[in-house]
Amino acid sequence: MADQLNCTVLGAGLMGRLLAHSLATQGHRVQVHEASGPDGTGAAARVAASMLAPLAESAITETPVVNMGHYSLSRWPELIAQLPEPVFFQQLGTLMLWHRQDAQQARMLVDKLHINSQSMPSQTRPQTVDGELLQTLEPELLGKFQQGLFLPGEGQLDNRQLLAGLLASLQQQHARIHWNSPMSMEELTRQTSSDTDWVFDCRGLGAREDWSHLRGVRGEVIRLHAPEVHITRPVRLVHPRYPLYIAPKPDHVYVIGATEIESDDKTEASVRSTLELLSAAYSLHSGFAEARILEINTQLRPTLKNNLPGIRRLATRCLQINGLYRHGFLIAPAMLDAILGLMNDDTSLSDRFTLIQAN
Ligand SMILES: Cc1cc2nc3c(=O)[nH]c(=O)nc-3n(C[C@H](O)[C@H](O)[C@H](O)COP(=O)(O)OP(=O)(O)OC[C@H]3O[C@@H](n4cnc5c(N)ncnc54)[C@H](O)[C@@H]3O)c2cc1C
Repeated sequence: MADQLNCTVLGAGLMGRLLAHSLATQGHRVQVHEASGPDGTGAAARVAASMLAPLAESAITETPVVNMGHYSLSRWPELIAQLPEPVFFQQLGTLMLWHRQDAQQARMLVDKLHINSQSMPSQTRPQTVDGELLQTLEPELLGKFQQGLFLPGEGQLDNRQLLAGLLASLQQQHARIHWNSPMSMEELTRQTSSDTDWVFDCRGLGAREDWSHLRGVRGEVIRLHAPEVHITRPVRLVHPRYPLYIAPKPDHVYVIGATEIESDDKTEASVRSTLELLSAAYSLHSGFAEARILEINTQLRPTLKNNLPGIRRLATRCLQINGLYRHGFLIAPAMLDAILGLMNDDTSLSDRFTLIQAN
């Protein structure tokens, strides 16, 4: 390594932890300020389903995010391999299903995904699901559903194992982590000693005072323990109000999500949303009837204009990274490599993913 730099990272959610880990792994001295504690309770990252589904998301997002998603799918295994603790990661694809009454809406979605897939790698072309393919993919869902769409190659990981693994790496590399230490850019500037080389602001919604367009998009999500259910890959259910999904985690834990509401309200989940999420799960598989509700959570997705992520350069060696919206896990490795590039004046990735925003 050419120079050992002193790096300060604000926020130990998804982006802050991943960046701090990578900087420490490169041999830099890293300190982190996090407003809450080590278990990520202040972070959107803690409640996320952490699906890595670029084609499925192409229905609602733009090309740079889809491209970042493809890039990141191959980077995650490399990043996870660096961690001292195992992190569940798989690429068994995404299954999209719909009930008969939603068939018309599903047809529009299927057409869109077929068109979008034309510009993607050929191994990810969507496949029409009939009874035979469903029997192979998810036999327990046969009977309730006769048709669907399979998106091969899409992935998922365990968000909480990832947050814990990144933390273990930081501790192993003696990074200085200040928990329960909310920090503003102003205060940091006052405190920063002359030997600080780089500052990275990864505070998610905590950076709202600095980004006039930063807003929260409310998401409600439920964690179930369902020993009677054997679903192996994320299943998305076409729904008239928002795309619902069931994302399996290890040990028969399933994340049922998520609402998508334009609101900064982080209070508890509503009865209506809870009923809709649980009904969706039960309509998919009757084994969810005896599932146990582990958690019902609400979090806000940090979102910028046009729902696209952005990087701003506040000063020569101060970057603000935000707007990961509902795509943090999908795109974080691409964001990371773009940031590491910028540290070496290499703008190729930030240009390719159109990440740089004006101050
Ligand atoms: C319900 C739900 C489901 C989701 N599902 C998926 C999914 O399936 N796939 C996917 O790719 N993405 C998903 N996401 C999105 C993903 O979780 C976010 O995009 C991602 O967590 C954003 O990362 P971040 O690091 O920018 O912010 P966060 O993860 O929110 O972390 C920000 C951190 O900064 C800290 N902080 C705040 N203020 C301060 C301060 N003043 N000083 C110091 N620290 C501060 C916070 O405490 C927090 O720890 C989902 C999100 C939600 C809410």
